[in-house]
Amino acid sequence: MEWQSEAEKKLNRAPFFIRKKIRALVENEALRQGDSLVSLKHLQDCREKFFTGVQTGPTEPTPAYSVETCMGSDSCPNNLIKDYQLVEQLERMLAERNLAAFFRKKVKGPLKFHHRFSIVIAGCPNACSRPQIADLGIIGVSQPRTSEEPCSGCGACVENCPDQAITLGEDGRTPEISTPPCLACGQCSQTCPTGTLIERERGFRLLVGGKLGRHPQLGRELAGIYSATETLTVAGTCLDIFQQHNQHGERFGEVLHRLGPQSPLPMQEKF
Ligand code: SF4
Ligand code: SF4
Ligand code: SF4
Repeated sequence: MEWQSEAEKKLNRAPFFIRKKIRALVENEALRQGDSLVSLKHLQDCREKFFTGVQTGPTEPTPAYSVETCMGSDSCPNNLIKDYQLVEQLERMLAERNLAAFFRKKVKGPLKFHHRFSIVIAGCPNACSRPQIADLGIIGVSQPRTSEEPCSGCGACVENCPDQAITLGEDGRTPEISTPPCLACGQCSQTCPTGTLIERERGFRLLVGGKLGRHPQLGRELAGIYSATETLTVAGTCLDIFQQHNQHGERFGEVLHRLGPQSPLPMQEKF
């Protein structure tokens, strides 16, 4: 069945492990509506019908790279990313690297799915798209802070914090946020009725070197919160390291593991 290019592109950003299933669902939906060409509308209709926070993609055999997002980009109320230009910029950067030619030199035999360089973006720390197992994981965050506005002691922030990161002090009106366990989901600043808790900074947490396979490992977090521009710079650095130090098509996590403390990335824990 044919797909409009925009719909196909959207599908390509879905986590690989559910793409096939979503493709089938969307095509069934298009057929049900009497259409032979799949459009964004069919994707949207399916999302409303079947998903509330997950995403889609195609069945291309062996891409040299992938950029995937969670379904939050369109409709999830938790989404903290307002500008998805970053996705286009990352795709452009990856395309310019000519990774297909790079892998042809490094990998013996045909390129396998696990060889590709994967970037996975999640709209919030719930991380539905599994950025923890990507070569570069990007998580939208909103870091809170207290303002000068007096606290009413309503307790909404404490109730809404999924990580029990807020205390209100002995007087019940002096909010304090502990990091960790705060993951910068922004729920507290969004629900505080007095403006006592407000957003300090919006940006991205970055994880590097995550993977599954024979020796699975979660991506290690880089220190700090990054703007979109800084995220692009880090992505460029990751690709530089990957392409300079890759020996036989191994995953980025293995390259970082081999480099150890020599890696220029500011990892909170070293591999
Ligand atoms: S990661 Fe966050 S924004 Fe994305 S779908 Fe999940 S809950 Fe929604
Ligand atoms: S940003 Fe999220 S995790 Fe951090 S204190 Fe607020 S509600 Fe809790
Ligand atoms: S900081 Fe805001 S949400 Fe938390 S108790 Fe005070 S007024 Fe309520």
